Amino acid sequence: MRLSRYFLPVLKETPSEAQIVSHRLMLRAGMIKQSAAGIYSWLPLGFKVLRKIENIVHEEQMRAGHIPMQMPTLQSADLWKESGRYDAYGEEMLRITDRHGRDMLYTPTAEELITDIFRSNVSSYKDLPLTMYQIQWKFRDEIRPRFGVMRGREFYMKDGYNFDLSKEDALHAYNRHLVSYLRTYERMGLQAIPMRADGGPIGGDYTHEFLVLAETGESEVFYDSAVTDLSFGDREIDYDSVEQCKGVLEEFTTKYARTDETHDEALFGEVPEERRRTARGIEVGQIFYFGTKYSDALGAQVQTAEGEKVSVHMGSHGIGVSRLLGAIIEASHDDNGIIWPEGVTPFHAGIVNLKQGDAEADAACEALEKAMEAAGLEPLYDDRKERAGGKFATMDLIGLPWRITVGPRGLKNGVVELTSRRTGESEEMAPEAAVVKLIEIYADHRVTGL
Ligand code: ATP
Ligand code: MG
Repeated sequence: MRLSRYFLPVLKETPSEAQIVSHRLMLRAGMIKQSAAGIYSWLPLGFKVLRKIENIVHEEQMRAGHIPMQMPTLQSADLWKESGRYDAYGEEMLRITDRHGRDMLYTPTAEELITDIFRSNVSSYKDLPLTMYQIQWKFRDEIRPRFGVMRGREFYMKDGYNFDLSKEDALHAYNRHLVSYLRTYERMGLQAIPMRADGGPIGGDYTHEFLVLAETGESEVFYDSAVTDLSFGDREIDYDSVEQCKGVLEEFTTKYARTDETHDEALFGEVPEERRRTARGIEVGQIFYFGTKYSDALGAQVQTAEGEKVSVHMGSHGIGVSRLLGAIIEASHDDNGIIWPEGVTPFHAGIVNLKQGDAEADAACEALEKAMEAAGLEPLYDDRKERAGGKFATMDLIGLPWRITVGPRGLKNGVVELTSRRTGESEEMAPEAAVVKLIEIYADHRVTGL
């Protein structure tokens, strides 16, 4: 992509309405524009990152055996009246009346609709287990939308639902989700700690929230510092193995880690004092097992092998896809701007031409751009007639993890400069060598289907 042809409306001034760094940087980097309180347009750069995050979520969900599908954003209120949540959900639900006077709503979550799909189509234990998910816009009429996409009213969320014959099977689905979430966040360069949580309006006996530690987080969290030493890494896991999934859950949830909603001073006191931490965190996901709450309310039953009719055991599992952009930036930035982890960066590397219009420099940049594209990498080539300082500032602000700087002086010696956004370290090398190095760097960070 040539910057001269792209739409990247960066702001020089710090927008005064933004209270936290991720919101400021997303506005300054031209990623989003607010259209109404808590409702945003996703400008090209923001949209590109949103898609990368979404694709990682898809890949990891499908790897765990979960089936993608899509439900509408606007729903009839009937099912919600049937489950009792039409009244219980309160003011966060955006209620709409259509021209025939029918009660509609903009979906804040989709347990009712998926349960209706299930009960209309599944009647035998033979069709279980089943887990389906969608990535879809949600609306919650938050009383105080703030912090940009972190607490929007319209937001993008992955919501998945499992249907199982027994509690035991449903707990395997729960554990499987926990494992797949750990992998998902790690691929985005994030450490998200599973913490024992509270059921809230979805309800549930078992629930964990995933929190990214950040000073600007809305939740107060308490944990044993040993949890931050854990990492999922690149271990292989068989998602069908009850033992393996349970083992990972135990490994990641046995040490004390709770939000203020479930915090227990006495239990926390048992953690060795030097490892006790109080901090703030951003909730980037939550998993629930809620038994037969919705299947009882909506009559989602299957016949067992013995011919008995039983309510199915269910869980639901959410990832805050749009909130993740904010969380990643909170966790990865410096005074000059964003520092994207390789897994979610909108472009893999920036190409900065120090002397636009110089025939040799232009040709070298174009060759680099072509070579990267041929290797399946996405470069952003700053081909504007701008001062070098301005080009560097833009690249730093938008946070591409790697930058190739091309200038006549280096080219005389056959080299360009490859710079890491994170460390600021630069290395001179032949243009071909820079491309080879980028291919290596991104070998483990390919997101498909863009
Ligand atoms: P919160 O406690 O932050 O209001 P929640 O617990 O009500 O969130 P869930 O129902 O668990 O949210 O939704 C799944 C995920 O969707 C959350 O973990 C969060 O990452 C994301 N999410 C929820 N509300 C919002 C919002 N208003 N804006 C952006 N993302 C949100
Ligand atoms: Mg939650």
